[in-house]
Amino acid sequence: MKNILFILLALVSTNLFSQKVNAQVNPDIEEDASIPKIRTCASADYLHEMELDPVVKVQRTLIEQQTQAFIANPTGHKSRLVIKIPVVVHVLYNLSTQNISDAQINSQIAILNKDFRKLNVEIPTIPAAFGPLAADCEIEFALAHTSPTGDSTTGITRTFATKTSFTSNNNVKYTALGGKDAWSRDQYLNIWICKLSGSLLGYAQFPGGAAATDGVVISFKAFGNTGVVSPPYNKGRTATHEIGHWLNIFHIWGDDGGACSGTDLVSDTPNQGSENYGSPTYPRYSCGNTTTGDMFMNYMDYTNDAAMSMFSTGQKQRMQSLFVTGGARKLISTSTKYNYPAPTIACGAPTNLLKSNITAEEATITWNPVAGATSYNLKYWPLSYSNYPLLTSTTTNSKMLTQLYSQMPYKVTVQAVCPLGNSVLIIDSFTTLEAIVYFRCANTNTEPNNYFSEAFNLTSNAALESTIQVSNDNDFYHVTTTDENPNLLITLEDIPMDYDLNVYNSKKELIATSRNSGNAIEEVSYNATKGDSYFVEVYGYNGCFSNNACYHLTSKISNTEFYTASINKLDTKPEIYFYPNPAVEQIAIELYADGEHEIVYNLYNTMGQLVKSKVATAHEGQNKILIDVNTLANGLYILEYRSGMERKIQKLNIKK
Ligand code: ZN
Ligand code: CA
Repeated sequence: MKNILFILLALVSTNLFSQKVNAQVNPDIEEDASIPKIRTCASADYLHEMELDPVVKVQRTLIEQQTQAFIANPTGHKSRLVIKIPVVVHVLYNLSTQNISDAQINSQIAILNKDFRKLNVEIPTIPAAFGPLAADCEIEFALAHTSPTGDSTTGITRTFATKTSFTSNNNVKYTALGGKDAWSRDQYLNIWICKLSGSLLGYAQFPGGAAATDGVVISFKAFGNTGVVSPPYNKGRTATHEIGHWLNIFHIWGDDGGACSGTDLVSDTPNQGSENYGSPTYPRYSCGNTTTGDMFMNYMDYTNDAAMSMFSTGQKQRMQSLFVTGGARKLISTSTKYNYPAPTIACGAPTNLLKSNITAEEATITWNPVAGATSYNLKYWPLSYSNYPLLTSTTTNSKMLTQLYSQMPYKVTVQAVCPLGNSVLIIDSFTTLEAIVYFRCANTNTEPNNYFSEAFNLTSNAALESTIQVSNDNDFYHVTTTDENPNLLITLEDIPMDYDLNVYNSKKELIATSRNSGNAIEEVSYNATKGDSYFVEVYGYNGCFSNNACYHLTSKISNTEFYTASINKLDTKPEIYFYPNPAVEQIAIELYADGEHEIVYNLYNTMGQLVKSKVATAHEGQNKILIDVNTLANGLYILEYRSGMERKIQKLNIKK
């Protein structure tokens, strides 16, 4: 309506609502009629009553000032480009037919999301004079998925009502008065569905009223487009109209009782005399406007559902003013109680979820970091306990899960948490490994002793039982000798597989090995002149193991030297080195041997060709062997030497 706004406050306080509006109820309809022949809405009357409270009146004035300021300069911060309104539908029923179906409720939500987004099918049928004014109001609705107490909800409450019907006196909004208490209007749009007495289709509370009664009330017969809905109010436009009021939109004719002096405070809707009913044929003129005629297809007229098709751009501006900073419905626009998968400006979902280090009890979950995420929610649960997800939170893109059940399939979800909402879930699964149940030998439990640092103390002259549990199991032991008894004998017997034995000095240098084949006994003697400490290592050759048979390990110390029989050989590792490098004419190789050994030396060029070979015999004690290289060309060579099982390779330069 194109009335000027210079007497805005006066309009709001006097002109607009000074006349009692009588159009909401059709007097031809009997009190018990189930559905009115013409549209009825009690919102204007309700607003008039509401504004009798001086506090509300001031509040309404302030809201209108903010609205007009926004229209004059439509800027200001919105939380989202498209406002999303979480909805709770409170169904009050005295008869089972009034307990409308989820499908009927869902149909209404779908209609709202078409009408407020300019996605309704009637858009192409709007007369050319008004088509360009039809607005995408950029407001969407969804049933809440979280209740005020944080519980999961369908966004629908159902309450048996002892009252057979309700009126616009708000009893429906109070549990104590036979209705149902509102959920916080800062988080939800409350819609009460009930049988309304007389021929009332619905009413709304404009912004600025009491929190306990904020929302809209709709007849169960005029909600949605399926179920028990009755024509001609069977296309969901009663809720579109009432939510228009809830968003501070007035009736398009200005509620002036047929005069042309009222206004809906919207600049792009034509001045209109009184309401239109039914399904008018365009054009319909009033207030001397023969240019465009009435915008009777506007949701804020009183025409039938099928005849309605648009909000105007000016109406959209009024609605949007509520959601910018300082707007009367700013809070609900930041609510996250709706059932959308993710807000428009929320963060993306984590990607590339990886599961690693899975054991019988643990698993590590990692994912790519999400830009803008402040933390991540991680849920995991055994598939067979789907109702009991464990929730954990982490600020890093990795989480180690512990205390898992062994050999159990798990489901895991990860969600990024961002300031404006959470991302969608990434879902994956993993299965924990079978728990390793260690076989325990009769008299000892040496595990874990896989490293020098975990070496188990081996008591002298006492046999010990243990096992090589798995293929990479090593068993380390610690042995000490004394100055009185400096000689050592280590015996490994009753081995179920081809286990071998290494002996190291206190500096962890390998000093002796016993590496017989099969399950022959392994024995090392090491005769010294004073007390010392040693490490003994038992391991399976080529990874062999037996997790259900024990080996026996014995250490003996003595003041007389130990000698070993032929199968119990002493095998001391030679200390070998050579010089000089680069070589000119000769290489000198020095090594220490504990007895007589045949030693082979091979010299290869970088092509892998054997260029020199020599067989020598090392004697007990220090040996020095010379290799003549003066016939060889300058360059890089590989020197290999072998002594029994020992093999060593070194690089050598010849430079003359
Ligand atoms: Zn109305
Ligand atoms: Ca071990």
